[in-house]
Amino acid sequence: MKILVTVKRVEDPESKIKVKPDGSGIVTEGVNYKMNPFDEIAVEEALRLQATHKGEVVIVSMGKQDVQTEIRQALAMGADRGIWVKHEGAMDPDGASRLLQKIVEKEKPDLVILGKQAIDDDQNQTGQLLAERLGWGQATFASKEESLESDAEKNKVPGIKITGTSAQVVREVDGGLEVLELALPAIVTTDLRLNKPRYATLPGIMKAKKKPLEELNPAGLGVDVTPKVAVAKLSPPPARKAGIKVPDVAALFDKLKNEAKVI
Ligand SMILES: Cc1cc2nc3c(=O)[nH]c(=O)nc-3n(C[C@H](O)[C@H](O)[C@H](O)COP(=O)(O)OP(=O)(O)OC[C@H]3O[C@@H](n4cnc5c(N)ncnc54)[C@H](O)[C@@H]3O)c2cc1C
Repeated sequence: MKILVTVKRVEDPESKIKVKPDGSGIVTEGVNYKMNPFDEIAVEEALRLQATHKGEVVIVSMGKQDVQTEIRQALAMGADRGIWVKHEGAMDPDGASRLLQKIVEKEKPDLVILGKQAIDDDQNQTGQLLAERLGWGQATFASKEESLESDAEKNKVPGIKITGTSAQVVREVDGGLEVLELALPAIVTTDLRLNKPRYATLPGIMKAKKKPLEELNPAGLGVDVTPKVAVAKLSPPPARKAGIKVPDVAALFDKLKNEAKVI
């Protein structure tokens, strides 16, 4: 089976994020970037499915030249080839989903796995918009019944179960789990508890350098990615009051009970 996985380059949540004084964006100097954590989970799940069902894992990223770093990282984890859609400037989930639609129509995968959201702008829209554009079934927030400490997880058993031309996907919902069955081809978006992504090995990193990486652009795909939504203003959260140190647990309980009145 062919699985297409999207990866987005995002600000590393460990970096200190500062908003520009005019609120037009964030200060990018000194910020580290990494693969969106939900996309690492998507890559891991695709590789586990490939180990069981054979086929190909294709990685797609859209953005400036530096998104090749995240594509190569996914190739180093074990994916087969990459597609880079070269684009400078802003792109909203509408533009991203229209580009992905063209790539899906060209590649004809059996399954597309995306992160449920990117941790930079937390939109949680691209997978859903893509499913609508393609007219495919979708299961968002894929999780699994087994815990991340289970033997199934240690043995890298995929959470998504593929049988013939259908996929079963477990979702976390309020108060329990829901199991969906989807006809393939389909869209799945990943939640945090689907798997623990693997690290790239040194041989994997070496091999990734030689794996194919196709370059496309929005005009060549016939897509105008001019955003329909603009960020009007960003503002930092209000500064927090300084904390205090308490000498012992008894003092902590006293403060929680008598000052904060939370216990
Ligand atoms: C990929 C990703 C997925 C996520 N998914 C979820 C999710 O599903 N659900 C969810 O709720 N959040 C989720 N988060 C958010 C994440 O859990 C938050 O980053 C985390 O809660 C830390 O919050 P914070 O930024 O306020 O951190 P901090 O500023 O570190 O605050 C954490 C809180 O703990 C206290 N604290 C910190 N250190 C100590 C210490 N040593 N002793 C006592 N108290 C301490 C702080 O005072 C504060 O109240 C996700 C984040 C990422 C990056």
